[in-house]
Amino acid sequence: MTQPALLLIKGADVQAPGPLGVLDILIAGNRIAAIAPDLNLPSHLVRVVDGRGLVAAPGFIDNHVHLLGGGGEGSFCTRTPELRLGDAIKAGVTAVVGCLGTDGVGRSLASLVAKARSLEEQGLKTYLYTGSYGIPPVTLTGSVERDLILIDKFIGVGEVAISDHRSSQPTQAELARLAGDARRGGMLAGKAGVLNIHLGDGPRGLEPLMQLVRETELPITQFFPTHINRNARVFEQAIPYTQAGGFVDITTSGVPQFYETGTIPPAEALRRLLEAGVPQGQVTFSSDGQGSLPDFAADGTLTGLSVGSVQSLHDVFCDAVFKEGLSLEVALRAITANPARILKLRDRGGLAEGLAGDVVLLDKDSLAVRTVIAGGRLMMEDGIQLVRGNYE
Ligand code: ZN
Repeated sequence: MTQPALLLIKGADVQAPGPLGVLDILIAGNRIAAIAPDLNLPSHLVRVVDGRGLVAAPGFIDNHVHLLGGGGEGSFCTRTPELRLGDAIKAGVTAVVGCLGTDGVGRSLASLVAKARSLEEQGLKTYLYTGSYGIPPVTLTGSVERDLILIDKFIGVGEVAISDHRSSQPTQAELARLAGDARRGGMLAGKAGVLNIHLGDGPRGLEPLMQLVRETELPITQFFPTHINRNARVFEQAIPYTQAGGFVDITTSGVPQFYETGTIPPAEALRRLLEAGVPQGQVTFSSDGQGSLPDFAADGTLTGLSVGSVQSLHDVFCDAVFKEGLSLEVALRAITANPARILKLRDRGGLAEGLAGDVVLLDKDSLAVRTVIAGGRLMMEDGIQLVRGNYE
């Protein structure tokens, strides 16, 4: 579908993610060209989007999505399905970071790169982690360092599992080597080069990372642990971890039985971290979309499986505002400015001239996603998805 190269959002309440007031936003090509009051252009040159009564926010960034599906812990028939374009767009997500997950054999980095490119052709911005759960990591070019330096899409390594019965039980030396390689590759390529860490239910929790920070030269910001709300023990560890300067990610996908058995509801987790004095810039939400959500008995036996959803990112953002009473700005930061800064996605996560034309218009009262512009392209307007993925 062809669209005019200029899009003009009129009269939206701009949250950039801080509040800027009622303004117009002009998007030219794939970038924001101007944000100012009363912008006007000849009507034949521009497609006007009515922003009155809506909040304009930066497009949401989902920093942990299993683009190819994931899991399979209950044998092959439990492999979860791939992400569809509409799953992201309807949730207001305009950029995703994809990863493999538990299965680095049946799913490959080559496939992951192809999937990321397919989503990007259809309008979604994609980044990737190289590696998977295990150490030594799977790679595309022979080493994580080469992957980071030579392949544009790779911005870090992950998700690498620790404190989990499904991990490769990495030694501290193995983790240190991998983090060091990721750090060097990231520095040479001008990327974040973080190690995205899957935290399991094991009693060690974040301790292996704390120990690496104590005993090596690796800075705490080299790690980006996720699932920190999965149980009370690891959640409590996250407080001193962030106070020491670490980043943490809260997983928004979950099922009721998780919350009945100790997982902290994600919006509540953000509120409690902030109340404990954790700097808000160090906390993010991600969906774990299309990942498997396996439930294990105490002896490691699989007792149930469901699928993570990107939609949960928007649901939890709403919970953070309406149930937990956080400000719109703080809730937005966890899915826009914070992941952009931590992952060095330099042209995303905010609304300002020169940044990517990723804008989400939300209903002022319900925060429902009404209109989505991704890379300057109108993907959804007034609740109607205009661009559909092939086969959707
Ligand atoms: Zn995980």
